[in-house]
Order: sequence, then C-alpha cells, then structure tokens
Amino acid sequence: MSEKKNYLTIEKLNQIPWLVHGFGLAGFEVSQLKKEPSLKSFYPVELSQQHSAKVFFIKKILSSKLVGDGLITAAPGLLLLIKTADCLPVLLIDLEHQAIAAVHCGWRGTYQKIIEKTLKQMNKIFGSQPEKILAALGPCVEQNCYEVGPEVQKAFFRAGFPLDSIFRPAQQVNKFFLDLRAANFWLLTQVIGLPEENISQINLCTFCRPELLSYRRQPLKEERLINFIGIKK
Ligand SMILES: [Zn+2]
Repeated sequence: MSEKKNYLTIEKLNQIPWLVHGFGLAGFEVSQLKKEPSLKSFYPVELSQQHSAKVFFIKKILSSKLVGDGLITAAPGLLLLIKTADCLPVLLIDLEHQAIAAVHCGWRGTYQKIIEKTLKQMNKIFGSQPEKILAALGPCVEQNCYEVGPEVQKAFFRAGFPLDSIFRPAQQVNKFFLDLRAANFWLLTQVIGLPEENISQINLCTFCRPELLSYRRQPLKEERLINFIGIKK
C-alpha cells in the first residue's frame, strides 16, 4: 500500500501502466478529483448506490446517475466511482482485455453476491477469466467492529456462505460479528476461482481509523470515502 495525500493505492496496481486507482481518505471529495494531476482528464461516473446487486456495463459518459452498485467499463477516460463509509469497495482489473470494474459491497450486496455477478458479466462481455483478474479490496469496517443481528446471518446462510468463517457470536444473545472482507474473499477465491495471489487488500478498519469515514462511528455525517478506478486515454 502506498499513501498519497488524498487517497491510498496498491503497489501492484500502480505497476499497471494503463490504470489509475485509489481508495479515498476522509476529506477527499468528488469535486477534488479534477484537481489531481493524474485524474483531471477523467470523467467521473457516479451511481445512485442502493445496496443492491445491480451492475452496469458502460461505454460512454452518462447523462444521469444509474441506480445500482457496480460499474464495468473498457472505455478509457471514464473514472468509475464507489462511495463507502464501512462497506467494502472492490476494484477489479482484467489484465487480458483491459477492462475494469468498481463494486460496492455492503452486507446486502455481499450476500446477493454482487462480486460474482460482476465477474459473470465481465466474462460474458469480454471473456474475462478468473486467473487473469486482479482484485483490490479497500478499507472497510473490520469484524471486531461490525455487530449485526440474526437477519443478516440468516441472509448469508440462505445464500450458501460458510457461516463459521465469516461470523463470530457476540456477547449479546442473537448478535454476531460479520467479516465482510472474508465473505467477499471467499466469493472471489472459492466461488469465482481467483488465485489468492491475485487479490490485494488494504486492511484498515473504517470504524477505528480517524482518517477514514465510518457510518457506524458518525451516522449523521453525509460525507463518503471516494474509491475510484479508470483506464488512461
Ligand atoms: Zn475497527
């Protein structure tokens, strides 16, 4: 991981000459993207995020915001944005077909397997193969700081997730700690078949780190972390 002023990047992804990416820190807003020398030629594409499993393939600038939680493109000059505050942002790179995706993985998107849906769509569009895909998992709320109720555990159980590896019982009866990162890591490696070495992570907890934003820590704050990925022109 390396740190610029406004966002964190992953060294392995910095080596890809045609790519820009980053996981924003608190205070870094969409309006500032245009001020970053490496990003100012890009056109930012935002979603109206809904904790869904809806993913869109886009080829050009959009006139209005799409409602969904994942974006795929192969078009240079578009900057795909995912906004988070505890949810897990995932960036995907198809090295072979020069295609990318940005995905918003909260607990709802995760149990609905939005990551798998994104990669299936990339496979359909480009012929993307798991072994040629790199995944980057950004900061999110860690398991110790993410207590959830039984309805969340039930949703993951119904979806076929290995409960023992992603939940830990909390002290309070019928409360659990969810490991969002582990749930998505399981999807990527066990369901989709990405080799573990293709997955990079920034293991920082949004709840614990003051330089990040957490909905659980500051529920009234509307600011979100800006995570982005784009293909250079
Ligand atoms: Zn924490």
